[in-house]
Amino acid sequence: MKKASAFIISILLLVAVLSGCSVGEPYTSEFFAMDTVMKISIHGQNAKEAGLACEREIYRLDALLSTGNPDSEVSKINAMGGGAASADTATILTSALDIFRMTGGAYDATVYPLVSAWGFFSHEYRIPADAELASLLEKTGSEKVSLNDRLVSFDTEGMAIDFGGIAKGYATDRLNQLLRDQGVESALISLGGNVYALGRKTDGSLWNVAVQDPDDPEGYAGILAVSNSTIVTSGGYQRFFEMNGEIFHHIIDPSTGAPSDSGLKSVTIICNNGMLADGLSTALFVMGKEKALEFWRGHSEEFDAVLISDDGVVCVTKGIAHSFTADRDFEVYE
Ligand code: AMP
Ligand code: MG
Repeated sequence: MKKASAFIISILLLVAVLSGCSVGEPYTSEFFAMDTVMKISIHGQNAKEAGLACEREIYRLDALLSTGNPDSEVSKINAMGGGAASADTATILTSALDIFRMTGGAYDATVYPLVSAWGFFSHEYRIPADAELASLLEKTGSEKVSLNDRLVSFDTEGMAIDFGGIAKGYATDRLNQLLRDQGVESALISLGGNVYALGRKTDGSLWNVAVQDPDDPEGYAGILAVSNSTIVTSGGYQRFFEMNGEIFHHIIDPSTGAPSDSGLKSVTIICNNGMLADGLSTALFVMGKEKALEFWRGHSEEFDAVLISDDGVVCVTKGIAHSFTADRDFEVYE
């Protein structure tokens, strides 16, 4: 009996050594891609293999979608003023156009010329003159983009697309599928501000995902206890510059061409669809609290949200309120 159990333990140890991680240990990895820090933590038997596949997938998507890389497919489409799109790019553009329509233009993938004019791609920050913004606004508007049989075309010369507000959400969906295909049942992935909580922690409890305090990068405004959900945050504090004593952030109001000034500091979306969550986090940030809540009331089956206003007030929509805990008081919207 003793011999048999010693034999079984030896086999288990051998399997653990061969698989590259000890029993119960997650495969964790942190790397830089898509202009942000990515962290993945995967539990279970296929953890390492699945983790490496996730990294390869992220690098593949980065090479396809990055506007910072002149060889990417999106850069080539922008430079040519249109062209053939791969299946991935066509899928993302289809969603981008849907979210544009659904949000009344608050999410608009054609803001590229504006984001660029403010210096967010080159990091050479500047405040464009009103006349410059007015002329650039002529080159934006997703209603001027068509996608037919994977062929992208722009109605106006000088237009360009930027999937910065949605690409990490697409990557999250791809990784979620890839992990499930590999039989992974427990994982937490964080692609910049985009988190996906797959299954539960190995002890069976829910994953705890912090909603960052926009005023304190080290602190958090609350905790969401979730499973099989994506949690995406857009916030003016994530990327900004200061000039003439004013702060200018990276989320552009497509109706003015300037950084949105809607009274919100951050928007967190909780949803099952990563790409939708990512697009909506950007859009609801542009809409501001009142419009965002009105929008949520029309789509409460699809997502929930945590809104943090400039005055620090935290509002949580009803569907997720029972999963949200915070040290401070918060409003619940029904
Ligand atoms: P996110 O962090 O998901 O809110 O995305 C912000 C990024 O999306 C910016 O860095 C820009 O590249 C791009 N962007 C800015 N404003 C918008 C907008 N209104 N709609 C779509 N994309 C935007
Ligand atoms: Mg977004």
